[in-house]
Amino acid sequence: MSLLDIRGVSRVFPGVRGGAPVTALQPTDLALDENDFVTILGPSGCGKSTLLRMVAGLDTPTTGTITLDGKPVTGPGADRGMVFQSYTLFPWLTVRQNIGFGLREKGLPAAKTRQIVETYIDRVGLRGFENHWPRHLSGGMQQRCAIARALANQPRVLLLDEPFGALDNQTRSLMQELLLGIWEREKKTVIFVTHDIEEAVFMAGRVVTMSARPGRIKSITPVPFAHPRTYTLKSAPEFSELRLKLTEELRAEAIAAAMA
Ligand code: ADP
Ligand code: MG
Repeated sequence: MSLLDIRGVSRVFPGVRGGAPVTALQPTDLALDENDFVTILGPSGCGKSTLLRMVAGLDTPTTGTITLDGKPVTGPGADRGMVFQSYTLFPWLTVRQNIGFGLREKGLPAAKTRQIVETYIDRVGLRGFENHWPRHLSGGMQQRCAIARALANQPRVLLLDEPFGALDNQTRSLMQELLLGIWEREKKTVIFVTHDIEEAVFMAGRVVTMSARPGRIKSITPVPFAHPRTYTLKSAPEFSELRLKLTEELRAEAIAAAMA
């Protein structure tokens, strides 16, 4: 049995002010085993965030079921950690307090909380900044803090919605290596949404592409490159080949989306 099972999941939003209902996602099947790293690629508006939000329990499927460890998802829970594109740190808490927030909520003993928090401050490279306020951090640092906060709760599944979308290319590339390094070490189950093809291939064990609105899964492509991966992989011929294949697939979708 898969760790995470998305079966026949669709989402139709009711029309606004008498308008027609919007099908954001057509019935979708996707299964993740423990430690899978799946990236989801697709044109804007194809339902990527909607799918992720339903896995997070922040939205409810119109049809179908999502099960985690055999249990139906009915709402948000500590077994799923989410990281969004925009910075969602608590502005009134320091880096250290942000990372420890979920653990304190759970009522973990203070000593244990401290130990976990210190581990993740180091793992995301925020040592020296642990007492800073989010507003005094760069965008990349804020996202590192958001990732540390999600991981500190030890979720079964980590959900990331275009987490590096607002960062400059150089920072983005470093963040990809940082997150992948953590995954290589901790082996988490991850769904990572992006519209960046290179990022999707670099990070993934499997790349899921989605069709233009109304979204559905178009293809699932295994990524065979060994770990640990570094940025040099991006200039390997096999990497370019895979990126080109996905580029062509998505071009067709982008054209369809632009015409819709
Ligand atoms: P993506 O993340 O792939 O860009 P979304 O999942 O955000 O796409 O949106 C998919 C479609 O569903 C879009 O057409 C969007 O306008 C629509 N949609 C998303 N959320 C809502 C909502 N709460 N109410 C109505 N329509 C929505
Ligand atoms: Mg989105």
